[in-house]
Amino acid sequence: MNRDYPLEKVRNFGIIAHIDAGKTTTSERVLFYTGSQHKIGEVHEGETTTDWMEQERERGITITAAAITCFWSKTGEKDKKDAAKKYRFNIIDTPGHIDFTAEVKRSMRVLDGAIVVFDGVAGVEPQSETNWRYADEAKVPRVCFINKLDRTGASFERSYASILDRLSPKAVRMQIPIGEEGAHEGAIDLLTMKAYTFSGNMGEEVIESEIPEALLEDAKKYHGELVERIVENDDAAMNAYLEGKEPSLEELKAILRAAVIRNEVFPVYCGSALKNKGVQLVLDAVVDYLPSPLDLPPATGKNPKTGDPAERHAADDEPFCALAFKLQTDPFVGALTFFRVYSGTLSAGSYVFNSTTGSRERVGRIVRLQADKREEVGKVFAGEIAAAVGLKDTKTSHTLCDEANPIILEEIKFPEPVVSLRIEPKTKADQEKMGIALRKLSDEDPTFRVTTDEETNETIISGMGELHLEILVDRMKREFNVEANVGKPQVAYRETILGSSDAEGKYIKQTGGRGQYGHVKIKMKKLEPIEEGAKIPKNVTREDHFEFINNIKGGVVPQEYIPAVEKGVREAMARGLLAGFPMVDVSIDLYDGSYHDVDSSEIAFKIAASMAFQDAAQKAKPVILEPIMRVEVIVPEQFMGDITGNLSGKRGQIEGMEDRGMNKAVHAKVPLSEMFGYTTILRSMTEGRGSMTMEFDHYDIVPTNVAQEIIASRK
Ligand code: GDP
Repeated sequence: MNRDYPLEKVRNFGIIAHIDAGKTTTSERVLFYTGSQHKIGEVHEGETTTDWMEQERERGITITAAAITCFWSKTGEKDKKDAAKKYRFNIIDTPGHIDFTAEVKRSMRVLDGAIVVFDGVAGVEPQSETNWRYADEAKVPRVCFINKLDRTGASFERSYASILDRLSPKAVRMQIPIGEEGAHEGAIDLLTMKAYTFSGNMGEEVIESEIPEALLEDAKKYHGELVERIVENDDAAMNAYLEGKEPSLEELKAILRAAVIRNEVFPVYCGSALKNKGVQLVLDAVVDYLPSPLDLPPATGKNPKTGDPAERHAADDEPFCALAFKLQTDPFVGALTFFRVYSGTLSAGSYVFNSTTGSRERVGRIVRLQADKREEVGKVFAGEIAAAVGLKDTKTSHTLCDEANPIILEEIKFPEPVVSLRIEPKTKADQEKMGIALRKLSDEDPTFRVTTDEETNETIISGMGELHLEILVDRMKREFNVEANVGKPQVAYRETILGSSDAEGKYIKQTGGRGQYGHVKIKMKKLEPIEEGAKIPKNVTREDHFEFINNIKGGVVPQEYIPAVEKGVREAMARGLLAGFPMVDVSIDLYDGSYHDVDSSEIAFKIAASMAFQDAAQKAKPVILEPIMRVEVIVPEQFMGDITGNLSGKRGQIEGMEDRGMNKAVHAKVPLSEMFGYTTILRSMTEGRGSMTMEFDHYDIVPTNVAQEIIASRK
């Protein structure tokens, strides 16, 4: 079987936006214009194609990063049906809300480019900046779309200025609008120097005409600016330009394309998705300027056998390798594993090697989701995105590859969950269902974790923020029919040690009948953080970052009891020491002990191990860790003093201030425990004019006086 689309005609991209900027509406128009969808569902009626999950519809936000495939022929192509002229778009959905950082990061990793949507009234908003930063980190080429130009108060100039000012001076306008607010009709393309308007029910007809007299002067001025910005990126073109020769349209496009792919230029477009103006031209820009998989550097990783660096090029004849980036349950097909193929091909019905877990998996069916159907595919090729049905042990961020040519691609790094809450099934019947539901949801979402409080036996769920957990609880109700009582959100504290120690645990009971005998000696020390990108040693588990070394010589603790010792240690770690929070970053060396021929048992060794652990932890300078958040507050200048004072009072560190248009932006690092309910405080302190965003930065040691309060409150 051969590939149906040449690689240079594939675009894997995402649509990124601040909530409410119009991502859903834009995505929907994209699906309409690409012909996959014949009817347009309005967002408020909850009929959109990408947001098929119920609670997403209600909230009007997109939570999941489903990939949707559609096809596009450029505007002006005469024969729209001619397959040779079509491009395949794999659109990876990205959420706008900060509590779904993991989703944004995850999708950034697999997309090759992005359309960034802005609200033409508000311009750049705090979350646009956060998302922009993630895209910068992942070096994702971008085109911008200033949407909602039909709204009262919309301004292309102001929004464009906010992009230049707050996101990047490398942005450049490709268009100017024809009219704004009620008079918005279309746009002038500053490269072709033509006017474009839209007609038909859904604006499906793009009409090209001459630039209206009133806009001609502006258009000429900005055309000149644009050409200069383009030729700057190419020495030969620059020299020719300085000698008075303007490159041809084709040359300009080629130079611009290369510059966009290098992240040197971000072209800016405009329109109104809701009023059906402009979206098609942005899709043309996706074709013209965003990279195909061929334009990208090879995927890098490591050979799991040798540890040597390895890379794969986007070519069908290279060994297969792919990254699983999303698990999702499809109401019709069942459990889907979305993956991005970096090299080689994969056939349905074949076996694939999961190099992250070291196990083989059978790929049942392979599907591609289109707006209105699920297309079954026999084979997927390099550079494509598809979903596999039937994978059992593959989770988000795992590498799938050819067993004979193994590679582990760089993992997707996820932030740590920082908020947790207790959750309790309402009835006995809910109990079992809740277990299944939570397992499924945590398999899907690496930033969602489920633990059990050993003492109370209560289930604790942790995630990225209050909204994140709220939505997961909601999904549990809707998708799994589980009714549960939910506690108040709490900071996910942790414990660790700063020193090292040596301890002994003895559990001996010999009072008639069969006794108990377990005895171990352990050394405990702090486990240093694993360097970024370094391979995780085999005996270290990622979640609790814990290492267990078996140094028993001569069978003083028989081999059969070693797993029980490790288990005892792990359980003690999960219980914590100071205030019952899980302990992390600990290395345990089991080096001595003894046993009794008759009385020794697994349970005795388990208890001895946890006694030894407790004693060792006590002696190794235990401390409590708390999540510290990176906070940005934007307020009018007159409130600056109050805001910084208030944040300092919250144990916050002010890291800087800057002008943000008419306002001031304050950057600070503040403990999460001090930030619950901050939006309300901010509102009342600033007469409702302040806004804020926050995201996890790092875990830090809690000061002694605060630690004492935490310990007291847990007693
Ligand atoms: P998302 O949160 O980014 O997905 O944004 P939506 O697409 O859900 O849009 C948010 C709101 O803005 C909805 O009420 C849309 O109808 C509205 N909207 C989206 N695009 C436009 C536009 O171009 N013009 C106007 N006036 N409203 C729009």
